[in-house]
Amino acid sequence: MKDPLLNEKHEQLRQQVREFAEKEVKPLAHKLDEEVIFSAELTNKMFDMGLLRINVSQEYGGLGLDTLSYIIAVEELARVDGSQAATIAAHNSLGIAPIANYGTKEQKDRFLPKLTTGKQLWAFGLTEPNAGSDSNNTETTAELADGRWVINGKKIYITNISSSMSGGITVQAVTGDMGERRKELSVILVDRDTPGYSVETITSKMMWRGADTGRVFFDDVKVPEENLLGERGQGAKIMLATLDGGRLSIAAMGLGLAQGAFEMAFEYASKRIQFGRPIRSFQINSFKLADMATKIELARNLLYKACWLKDNQQSFGKEAAMAKLYTSEISREIANEALQIHGAHGLMKDNPIERFYRDQRILEIGEGTSEILRLVIARHLGIR
Ligand SMILES: Cc1cc2nc3c(=O)[nH]c(=O)nc-3n(C[C@H](O)[C@H](O)[C@H](O)COP(=O)(O)OP(=O)(O)OC[C@H]3O[C@@H](n4cnc5c(N)ncnc54)[C@H](O)[C@@H]3O)c2cc1C
Repeated sequence: MKDPLLNEKHEQLRQQVREFAEKEVKPLAHKLDEEVIFSAELTNKMFDMGLLRINVSQEYGGLGLDTLSYIIAVEELARVDGSQAATIAAHNSLGIAPIANYGTKEQKDRFLPKLTTGKQLWAFGLTEPNAGSDSNNTETTAELADGRWVINGKKIYITNISSSMSGGITVQAVTGDMGERRKELSVILVDRDTPGYSVETITSKMMWRGADTGRVFFDDVKVPEENLLGERGQGAKIMLATLDGGRLSIAAMGLGLAQGAFEMAFEYASKRIQFGRPIRSFQINSFKLADMATKIELARNLLYKACWLKDNQQSFGKEAAMAKLYTSEISREIANEALQIHGAHGLMKDNPIERFYRDQRILEIGEGTSEILRLVIARHLGIR
């Protein structure tokens, strides 16, 4: 049945991304995961398809499409491979979005074209060794001297930071002291070719093994004063508002992953014969499939509603947090039950459900853990 929130263009985009994911991504996903390879070739193809510039206005080389279009693209990639979905999600909603939303005309002219048509990826630098959920505890510093910010510190677990395609990062840094032990936090744009900037790739990870995750170090990195994004002292506001949008992407990854896992479970349960019958005909398995389909339907409705709110300039922070929390948790339940339906075969490395089971786990941690999201939702309900 047609989704009432989607128009013809959304459906066409879904079809286009699904074909790309099936034809170009699916055949490579296992190898990239197994060998921990970030594929520049595949990322270039996603650039060519416009998947890394979906929401940016055409003035800056983007496609100028709405949030729902972007979410459908992430969902369709995640239906096949979480790593490629993570690459486009981090670039669009964490890399490009803060520059598009808070950048001056000069900053947009300088940074956006290389991120839309110039095939460079941009990263989002919030997390540090001592600042995870407590991102206000940032320790990276930026001091203004002779018209330049001098940045020192490090960021960890950063998506799209260490491959040759990475162009740089938006970094939250301490730029002063607000008194009462409150740090003044600001956001600064840093090009990767700036002296003192170095990166390391993190390869030893459970999930998103085909995406680029790394660390970035700033050793007296000097950038022009004009690289300050938004106003000085507004860093936390900018980064947290960016995460509201980012949560829609994580929700789309949860939805796509759940959909892909459900389809695999359905297909396997239809063809696997035990006791002379397809295993889906045992009531317990048919009920598992029914529960999966119901949860996916709910998740999709919640996520698309949050996108609709954003596209219609209404506040969407609560719904984005709910959609991220819900889809990430049902994707765990669905990946787990889908693996169970596959029996021993589901535990084998050559079965994609094994990768889905691992890729799911980050969704309950990245861009706000489930515990923090419950806190965010409770605050939206007025509970302090
Ligand atoms: C593959 C990957 C990619 C990532 N990409 C990026 C990126 O591009 N940019 C970026 O900035 N970060 C990125 N991250 C980091 C991610 O956003 C953080 O891991 C996340 O915000 C949680 O921080 P933490 O891991 O330090 O956990 P912590 O904050 O240390 O939390 C540990 C546990 O304590 C709980 N906890 C903490 N505080 C509270 C509280 N107040 N109440 C109740 N429970 C609490 C948490 O819920 C969690 O269960 C990435 C992480 C991974 C693994």
